[in-house]
Formats: sequence, structure tokens, C-alpha cells
Amino acid sequence: MEALLARTRGALIGVGIGDALGATLEFMTKDEIKYKYGLHTELTGGGYWDLALGEVTDDTAMTIAVARGIISMPEDPVLSIANNFTAWAKSKPKDIGNICKLVLEEGHRRGTCSEAEWLEIAETAHFWSGKRSAGNGSLMRTIPIVLGYFRDRDLMLSLAQRVSALTHFDSIVEKCIRYYCDLVRTVLLEGNLHSVLLQAEQDAPFELDLTTPSDQLNTSGYVVHTLQTALTCVYQTNSFESALTKVVNLGGDADTIGAVTGGLAGAYYGDYGIPSRWLENLVVKDELRELAGNLYKIDYPS
Ligand SMILES: [Mg+2]
Repeated sequence: MEALLARTRGALIGVGIGDALGATLEFMTKDEIKYKYGLHTELTGGGYWDLALGEVTDDTAMTIAVARGIISMPEDPVLSIANNFTAWAKSKPKDIGNICKLVLEEGHRRGTCSEAEWLEIAETAHFWSGKRSAGNGSLMRTIPIVLGYFRDRDLMLSLAQRVSALTHFDSIVEKCIRYYCDLVRTVLLEGNLHSVLLQAEQDAPFELDLTTPSDQLNTSGYVVHTLQTALTCVYQTNSFESALTKVVNLGGDADTIGAVTGGLAGAYYGDYGIPSRWLENLVVKDELRELAGNLYKIDYPS
């Protein structure tokens, strides 16, 4: 039981660490990173967003919005989560993805929306953006749904899909969300990583070769690229620290790929597997730790 709670905390805090570590390197190429930092191994802040030490971005903010929505309304958290998203978007965050910006600003303009209205707004945004809603913006925030509902797989998958669909219309996103949630859930429950990843390589709804050399991994914000890169880096390493260091130093969408990697790696290595020097500097560490504890003991009728 204690181990499962540690893995629950590890997954949620892992998202924040991956975000904070990667955000310094967002939009850089791996060669630029090598030239400027050698190897980036510390939570330093700075970067494109000029972040403070240990500051996190939209990836963690939206993850917290999901976690709070679940905790306040565990029987059906979707609209509570949507309200948290609009409140966050209204706060003019430094970093917000294009699709989330389009959808949440429109949702806020309309006032209180039903779930059907959210889906309509997300579909419209998909077409407005030139059918570009297959980004990783709903994948990066999905971990709390796994942590709150892993005891009921069908409920977990259905909620994960509904929360994703609030902003991301593209059908490949839904496939990727279900796949990642299932993977993290299995790791959490079984306490195995590399063997679970080998099975996941067979089951992936996209091409996946976990032996791909890291210099051939794509660091775009496309949801499929994010999963290919995150899973491969976790597979090719043997600690939370090495997985996260490897993935963020590839650059590109480093904060979001870091967050997705951190969620998976944290679900296996647990909070005690996260280097204390990272944890100490993470601004939202207490909040994430408390939210993880509340998600772990959530009660819902299933
Ligand atoms: Mg970000």
C-alpha cells in the first residue's frame, strides 16, 4: 500500500519536475542545448519563458486544474475541470497551447458551457486551426485521472477521453490518451516498467520502436511524437533522473515531453526515486504532494 502511494505521488510530482526541468530548454535544438549548457541536469528556471527557479508552466497548471476538479467532484469531474481550465486561462498564463487558448477563451466568452457545448467549441477550434488539434496539450494533463480512478479501468478511460475532448478534437489524441493512461495504470499497479513497456510497444496505436537512438527521436508537440520520445527515453534508462535528463536534453517541446515522461517514470520509481535536489527546488512540490494523497484516497461509486 505504501509503495502504491509513493508511486502515486511520484507520478504527479514527476509531471511537475519534467515540466520545470524541460521548460528551460523549450524551443531549443539539442545542439543549441549542448552548446549553451553541456548537459542540462538542474532545475534552474530561465529559458524562453524567463522562469524563476523551480517554476512550472501550463503542463503542471492544467494538471493541477484536473486534480482539483476530480477532488471537488469525484463522481463526475468533467465540468468542474472545464471551469478550472477557464479560470486558469483567464489568469493570462505565460505559456498556453494554441488549441487550449482558442477553446478556453471561447468557452470563457460564452460563460457556463455544457459538455456538449465544449465539444462543439473544440471541434470548431480544430477546423479554425487548420485541423491542428493533434498536439500533446491534453496528454500532458491526464495523469490525475489515472491516479484518481485506476481502480476502475473503464471509468478511468472514459473520463480521460472526455477531459481530453474538452479541448482536443482529433481522434488520434483520444487513442493516445487511452493508451498512455492504460500504460501508466499498469505500471502503477504492477510495479514493473521495462516489461510493461515491451508489451506496450506491441500494443501502441502508432509506430513504436523502443530501441530508436535518441538522436532520431522527434521532439515536436505532435501527440504521437511526444509518446514515442517519452516512452523510448524511459525504456532506455534505469532511473527517474536519467530518464528525465535524457528526454529534456533533446529540446523541442521539452517541458511537455518532460511532463509526460515524468508522469510515467514517477509512476514506477515513486517519489523516493526523484532526486531530492530537484524536489527541493520545485515550487509546487507541497501542492502536488497533497493533491496526490487526496487522489489516492478518493472515493467514488463504481
Ligand atoms: Mg509548457
